[in-house]
Amino acid sequence: MKYLVGLVLILLVAAGGAWIVAGRMAAPAITIEKPEKFVGTATPLQIAIAAPDAPTMKPIRVVFEQNGKQTPLFNLDEPGKGQIAQDGTDKVRITQEIGKQTIPDLQSGAAKIIVTAGRPVLRGMRTLETTVTHDVQVRLERPRVSVISTHHYINHGGTEFIVYRAIPDDVESGVVVGDVEYPGFPAAGATVDGVKITDPAVKVAFFALLYDQDMNVPMRVFARDPAGNTARADFDHRTFPKPFKKSQIPLDDKFLDRVVPAILEGTTDVKPDGDNLAKFLVINGDLRRKNAEKIASFAKQTSPELLWKGLVFHAFKNNAVESAFADQRTYIYKGKEVDKQVHLGFDLASFAGTPIVAANRGKVLFADELGIYGNCVIIDHGMGVQSLYAHLSSIEVKAGQDVEKEQTLGRSGMTGLAGGDHLHFTMLLNGHMINPVEWWDAHWIEDRILRKLRGTTAGTSN
Ligand SMILES: [Zn+2]
Repeated sequence: MKYLVGLVLILLVAAGGAWIVAGRMAAPAITIEKPEKFVGTATPLQIAIAAPDAPTMKPIRVVFEQNGKQTPLFNLDEPGKGQIAQDGTDKVRITQEIGKQTIPDLQSGAAKIIVTAGRPVLRGMRTLETTVTHDVQVRLERPRVSVISTHHYINHGGTEFIVYRAIPDDVESGVVVGDVEYPGFPAAGATVDGVKITDPAVKVAFFALLYDQDMNVPMRVFARDPAGNTARADFDHRTFPKPFKKSQIPLDDKFLDRVVPAILEGTTDVKPDGDNLAKFLVINGDLRRKNAEKIASFAKQTSPELLWKGLVFHAFKNNAVESAFADQRTYIYKGKEVDKQVHLGFDLASFAGTPIVAANRGKVLFADELGIYGNCVIIDHGMGVQSLYAHLSSIEVKAGQDVEKEQTLGRSGMTGLAGGDHLHFTMLLNGHMINPVEWWDAHWIEDRILRKLRGTTAGTSN
């Protein structure tokens, strides 16, 4: 009897010890990956739950709580609501949609997502449970967007400007042309003819019809709130074809021997094999594309304000135009066609080593060697508008530096893929190469940009 009591006592202590040890084991770790803060009319819910032997976890429950009422979004015991997927051996992932479909009486306002997960231990005698509560804000009202400006005329390869209203204040908005998005910026603070724009709902955006887009590509103003609710507005517009020139570029060994090794020395983006012609084709294709991606990456560094003054851009009038925007080039080597590329800029030639100036006021984003562009400078003028200067023999500015209109950037040269000393100049809009010729034209600036901004301050904005 005495021994029996002792044995029971030992077993009880052992069981108690096991219970305590089990209690110190890792409970499930819950991460609510989506939504971060906002829930809209159809918002993805994504939850990751980590624990050793994750597939044995039980229970797993997700509920949505609003105004004291709970709606189940997922329950391991009631399949059919939401999806569960094993993510390795130590994690499961739950996906579901939050919206009117899953929560019929969803309302705008504060709400909570509550996730509970349990890990059975001690052969299922004990469950280690974790509960995580995540506060969200439900927004069911769609943003509103309406166009203020009229008569939008877009040349193929060129740019246009639009004035519109978008509410509420925190919506992301802009213009979408086909599948290319251009961000809009607040107009408030800008001054036209001495009148300051003050309405915070008024936005402006530059957008382009790219040289390789269809003349009839759809274009709209869009607005998107943080909950993923969207709105769109059409605007009156006409597109105009611009016939692009065709030209032939003869290649010879003297040219290839000069440019190919020099470009390859300065880049790690491509490592072609073969003779100089084979290497040239990689430079003219792959490296051209990689350089364009690098150039496009500066778009996100644009200032939300127009940095330019005097509006019309410096036109390099003392230079002969050797090649215009979007010339379709065929490359000929020993009488044979070896490549085709589109030349997205202007080639402007003057005397060798001529000073190259900033087309307008702005901030230098890039001043370095860049593949086929040789020594290259990129200047941001704000609102997605940037300018590029290539093949320079020397650079006299640094990235991060503010420059005034017509301030010297460096000297012209023939670095990169250049047959002779010239300036390769192009304008960029949100990273896309656009025809600079419009920016040199005072009438275009007046009619396309200033007229529409003036309409905003003249009270025609209703
Ligand atoms: Zn060029």
